[in-house]
Amino acid sequence: MKVKHSAPTKHSPHSEKQQAERDNNHSVADFDVLIAGGGMVGASFAAALAPLALKIAVVEAVRFGSRGQPSYDDRITAVSWGSRRIFEGIGLWPQIAPEATAIHHIHVSDRGHAGMTRLHAVEMGVEALGYVVPNRVIGLALSEFLLRQKHIALLAPAKLESVQIQAEGVCTTLECDAMNNIKTRLLVAADGANSKIREQLGINAHVWDYGQSAVICNVSVERPQAHTAFERFTGNGPLALLPMGADRYALIWTLANARVAEVLAMADTEFLDAAAVGFNGRLGRFIKAGKRTAYPLSLVHAHTQLRGRAVLVGNAAHSLHPIAGQGFNLSLRDIAALADMLADITAVGGDLGDERQLIAYVRTRRRDQMTTTLFTDMLTRVFTNPLASIGWARNLGLLGLDLFPAARHRLARHNMGIAGRLPRLARGLGIKTEADYLAKQPSLPASSSASRMECGLP
Ligand SMILES: Cc1cc2nc3c(=O)[nH]c(=O)nc-3n(C[C@H](O)[C@H](O)[C@H](O)COP(=O)(O)OP(=O)(O)OC[C@H]3O[C@@H](n4cnc5c(N)ncnc54)[C@H](O)[C@@H]3O)c2cc1C
Repeated sequence: MKVKHSAPTKHSPHSEKQQAERDNNHSVADFDVLIAGGGMVGASFAAALAPLALKIAVVEAVRFGSRGQPSYDDRITAVSWGSRRIFEGIGLWPQIAPEATAIHHIHVSDRGHAGMTRLHAVEMGVEALGYVVPNRVIGLALSEFLLRQKHIALLAPAKLESVQIQAEGVCTTLECDAMNNIKTRLLVAADGANSKIREQLGINAHVWDYGQSAVICNVSVERPQAHTAFERFTGNGPLALLPMGADRYALIWTLANARVAEVLAMADTEFLDAAAVGFNGRLGRFIKAGKRTAYPLSLVHAHTQLRGRAVLVGNAAHSLHPIAGQGFNLSLRDIAALADMLADITAVGGDLGDERQLIAYVRTRRRDQMTTTLFTDMLTRVFTNPLASIGWARNLGLLGLDLFPAARHRLARHNMGIAGRLPRLARGLGIKTEADYLAKQPSLPASSSASRMECGLP
């Protein structure tokens, strides 16, 4: 399979070549798996499937590497320890690791109250609780990896326009220079929180607008604490500082929408002082600020993640508030489980779009999805609520976590993505290939191999 970056082509009108291309575009290309959306989740899923002998297409609306790519933008992502293992299983971690800053300590506190809790990698028995990685680094690693895979067609810029589910496959139309129609056995919609494909599939989603935005900005501080992440709850909204190298932090400041314009318009010094106040001088003065960008925040929860041969993943299935840094990590665990299931189906030559199998996948992921969604939503509501009574409850919760290591470790294991039954990729193992399945088959007894030889079989 040829890998294609489709680009607008210039032809003289009425040329034979143009006509031939048009005819070619109207023919239907067949793929085993079509992934709509090559953002963080869709591209990771394609990479996870790479070892399988499947024809895979990734359709992405925005060219990889362009400044306008919405998934690989200026944000940074806190990648959990469990997600590192998934990237290791895929074979991507060596490309990401040089640009990742390890988090060895997490410090959670509430400004003006005694409640606080700390977590250390050593007490969890891991090298790091997680890593801070720029989204652009993840995007570059993914696109370079996918471009090396001969059986994965990367179509970008290209848009999935319409979807029709049939008994034997899904027929789709594309806005794309290279091809206009694709038929696939399984459609995976990874087209983000405002998923048009979800809409086309007739799947409703619960959308809860938090009325808040996250303002992100890289800052340098006077007294950095190496490899330490801070989550600080203040009267001005929760502030998170994630370490980036030796002396910089990614600041994520959650604010009511009404205050966003004011904070974006502040002069750098005013902004830095306002953010530093939240940390009570713990890191000294905040001395340098990068570009500020605001992201409106909402909770999106699809009523179902399945329609026939189509399954929703990533933000299209569930989009969370970034307060706990869980959205991408949860989605990686989803796609690791889905990849495991497709490996099993491929090994027995089964139907990749078998609805019963897809239902089983959705069921196995329900508990983790519900726990993570409810935990993130609860955190958002409790830590952005100015009521004094909620403030006391919040502090008791933080103190409780600090005093009871068992409770703290349980919560940490879940947030690190290492709790419960884990798919192969989440255990740092590669996906099972045909060769792995064949190696597991019991070898033929001596008599049967003899009889094959007697019959003259090789
Ligand atoms: C401020 C902020 C901070 C965050 N921090 C963290 C964190 O620290 N840790 C964490 O785990 N999560 C974090 N998240 C969440 C994380 O960013 C998301 O979970 C993740 O980006 C979801 O990726 P996705 O691929 O599902 O969707 P998206 O990133 O939205 O990608 C969707 C892709 O689909 C493409 N597309 C759309 N329509 C079509 C179409 N019709 N045809 C083809 N392509 C299409 C788009 O161009 C895009 O590339 C954060 C989110 C925010 C807003």
